[in-house]
Amino acid sequence: MNKKTVRDIDVRGKRVLVRVDFNVPLDAERNITDDRRIVAALPTIKYLIEQGAKVILMSHLGRPKHDDTGKADAESVKKYNLDPVAKRLSELIGKPVKKLDDCIGEEVKKAVEAMSDGDVVLLENVRFYKAEEKNDPEFARQLASLGEVYVNDAFGTAHRAHASTEGVAHILPGVAGFLMEKELDYLGKALENPDRPFVAVLGGVKVSDKIKVIDNLLNKVDALLIGGAMTYTFLKAQGYSVGNSMVDVDGLALANQALQKAKERGVELMLPIDTVAVELPADFDIPSGVPADVNIQIVPSTAIPDGYRGLDIGPETVKQYGEKIKSARTVVWNGPMGVFEDPRFAKGTLGIAQAMAECQGTTIVGGGDSAAAVEQLGYADKIDHVSTGGGASLEFLEGKELPGVAILQDK
Ligand code: ADP
Ligand code: MG
Repeated sequence: MNKKTVRDIDVRGKRVLVRVDFNVPLDAERNITDDRRIVAALPTIKYLIEQGAKVILMSHLGRPKHDDTGKADAESVKKYNLDPVAKRLSELIGKPVKKLDDCIGEEVKKAVEAMSDGDVVLLENVRFYKAEEKNDPEFARQLASLGEVYVNDAFGTAHRAHASTEGVAHILPGVAGFLMEKELDYLGKALENPDRPFVAVLGGVKVSDKIKVIDNLLNKVDALLIGGAMTYTFLKAQGYSVGNSMVDVDGLALANQALQKAKERGVELMLPIDTVAVELPADFDIPSGVPADVNIQIVPSTAIPDGYRGLDIGPETVKQYGEKIKSARTVVWNGPMGVFEDPRFAKGTLGIAQAMAECQGTTIVGGGDSAAAVEQLGYADKIDHVSTGGGASLEFLEGKELPGVAILQDK
């Protein structure tokens, strides 16, 4: 990676302002139901403590609402304060974490001035100020005044130019934390200098949402395997009838362009040979639950019967894609192969996860639902890198430079 990291600077005795992504899920009693985002930031936090830095952490949590003054309303403060996060972090690092009631202002300044080397404080939710997402320079200046150096370890928000992810780095020298470094190393190597064969697996819903990812990957990969709902847009674009399957009308022309580009570049673009088709109306709302007694058939993808909808890739496709994946030296996967939330339509996604686990090459999963799927199916530990940033990893795969990364110091 060409960006400086915490290893490249001297932090001893310094006030280090660290942007982390502690946007964890909470239940109704505000218990943290999944602390992986906190755990993912521990290497950087522990390193800074060991180096004798004064560690000032900042994060967002949820989507607070603001009143006319641009501050979070009372209900949002109750719902989205970082108290439970400070408690959990303190348990994980085995030392006190002082949670402050604000992220800027005189009280915060005083608390920071009172810190000793190796102390950890957690500022209150930066999104309690509307100015955060506006990347307001004055707000950024107030945050920056708390530290002497800035560390960004929040890969998951690096695609947003906010005050705490981008603005502060105009004022303080900024470097990457270890999580940020790991994300950029894995994703960056795959896109810039992959071991070949390089295979990408793309699923999920809409071709039009992912067209930039498809387009960028077609410049890089040896094979592109398509699954998920976008399959049917590709099939329809080639003139096949897809029954009641979901078709992204805006994506039809884009699908044809992608097929054309693949041909020109000699990329093997594969579509599922078989499909798990379910008798359902085209407007049936899948998230509300597919009925238990529904008719299910495994059919060739080019012969989906009228009245049926494709909800997963079939077993022949799993076999074929699995072989491709296992013989690859780099695999990037984004987007579930089917409606994995329902066990009846999770076999395609499970089969791809298994092949990824068996692949000897470097395996990477990016995308919010894709990461959730491999976690849920129990394969996260068997994949080299499961990205912690849903939207950020997609923008990275599109070939975009992330603003929170671009602003960090070059090596
Ligand atoms: P990611 O968040 O990893 O980028 P997407 O948001 O693009 O992935 O897609 C995930 C969603 O796609 C899942 O909720 C899954 O149920 C849905 N999906 C996958 N295949 C189908 C299909 N054949 N029909 C309808 N929905 C599908
Ligand atoms: Mg998604």
